[in-house]
Amino acid sequence: MDFKQLISHCKEYAFIYQSSEIYDGLAAVYDYGPYGVELKNNIKQYWWKSMVQMHENIVGIDSSIFMHPKVWKASGHVDAFNDPLIDNKDSKKRYRADVLIEDYCAKIEGKINKDVEKARKRFGESFNEAEFRSTNGRVMDRQAKIDSIISRMSKSLTEENLQDVKSLIEELEIACPVSGSKNWTDVRQFNLMFSTQLGNIAGEEGKLYLRPETAQGIFVNFSNVQKSSRQKVPFGIAQIGKAFRNEIVARQFIFRMKEFEQMEMQFFVRPGTEMKFYESWKETRLKWHQKLGTPAAKLRYHNHENLAHYANAAVDIEFDFPFGFKELEGIHSRTDFDLNQHQDLSGKKLQYFDPELNENYVPFVVETSLGCDRMFLSQVAQALQEEEVPDSKGGVAKRIVMKLHPSIAPIKCAILPLLKNDENLVKAAKDAFNQLKLNVNTQYDEKDAIGRRYRRQDAIGTPFCITVDHQTLEDGTVTLRERDSLQQVRLSVQEANDRVTKETNINVLLMD
Ligand code: ATP
Repeated sequence: MDFKQLISHCKEYAFIYQSSEIYDGLAAVYDYGPYGVELKNNIKQYWWKSMVQMHENIVGIDSSIFMHPKVWKASGHVDAFNDPLIDNKDSKKRYRADVLIEDYCAKIEGKINKDVEKARKRFGESFNEAEFRSTNGRVMDRQAKIDSIISRMSKSLTEENLQDVKSLIEELEIACPVSGSKNWTDVRQFNLMFSTQLGNIAGEEGKLYLRPETAQGIFVNFSNVQKSSRQKVPFGIAQIGKAFRNEIVARQFIFRMKEFEQMEMQFFVRPGTEMKFYESWKETRLKWHQKLGTPAAKLRYHNHENLAHYANAAVDIEFDFPFGFKELEGIHSRTDFDLNQHQDLSGKKLQYFDPELNENYVPFVVETSLGCDRMFLSQVAQALQEEEVPDSKGGVAKRIVMKLHPSIAPIKCAILPLLKNDENLVKAAKDAFNQLKLNVNTQYDEKDAIGRRYRRQDAIGTPFCITVDHQTLEDGTVTLRERDSLQQVRLSVQEANDRVTKETNINVLLMD
């Protein structure tokens, strides 16, 4: 299923809508619908449980979106949280200079991939992709071109040589996708933080920012949390919350939003031990993704080559989104940079007394930072499929099914009376519904033929359907239909309840 179909499926089936759609929408801002909010909450619950409740040495907080303006000075966001922007003078459209260059490279990559696919067809089973890529002259030339463009761009951006970024755009003859012209302004830095104004203080002093990351709420609360919850290093603080970034590139659906949610955890460690924890969090986080059934081939690590000045190691977990491998989660070894900065600017000590070493130090930090919305997109993207299934007449039918892990599916079970105008069936179905809804999120549905009801549940990822029919009235058994295998078994209502409750529980994901 392609990306456009995924987006329209999300709207049609109550997962995600464009914000303020009746006013033609607001770019890069989205609202979650009735099933979307359930799926999102389940993802958050999985993260929270595995991160906070399954670890004795990780605690949660919920800090405010607004923070003292000095926080963002100390963190470096006021001075350095920028994207390089460029405007096209003819279309008046604004772009991220780095994205224009990356898109140019993606086109070359597209050509490489075409050559690879052609060769695959030609050589059939004996085709060795890695060998082809490393020996075919044309592919090698193209790859070398991409590598040299990306390395020059990264160097210029790191050195803040924006003139060279513009020269690169000119040399590559990149044209504006809207006007087709190459009439560009200079590249300049654009701060990504949204600002607003306090009511009771005029001018710069009353300028507040909407937080661009949740992590700073954790850093400034480090001492409060450590002391009040009597944590000993190593320990972590986790939080889920909204973050805001004035993103210029508004596309790729909920991958890049102006208002989004982060699930972040800062792990405070003794200086010098950070690499050990960095390696173990890297592994733990990949396993967390794999537990959801995400195929290994869809996830990969991507090491950062250009480290931020405060980091001594950083890796992304990338997911193979419908538009290619992109960052899903970041794992960063942030040294003692943030705590030191806050200590310096606030004048308050942010240290830990280590009883084993008998000394005070500013702990080092290893962070894991996952975007909730990107996580959502990755799950829908890998789960949503069109497949052929046997129909009732012995032929094949097409169905659209969202094969979400049962533990995060929005609705765990649908209860369906075979007929809606048979009072006894409806009563038995409602009785079953009233029992099961105490355990799991259940939906009662009596509208349309049973086949159509199954399709509707498939399309929203419901792992089980319970059908109540005439036999139910005789012997108290129902049909339990399983979404993926399409298997139907006859069980008592109680047995069906037990099975649904057990197999859709979030604990399935938490157990080793
Ligand atoms: P990118 O390079 O894609 O802009 P980033 O490196 O700026 O991402 P981080 O600052 O490391 O991202 O943020 C941590 C996580 O927050 C990311 O891995 C991503 O999942 C999520 N995230 C960041 N920006 C956005 C956004 N605009 N919309 C949705 N999720 C986001």
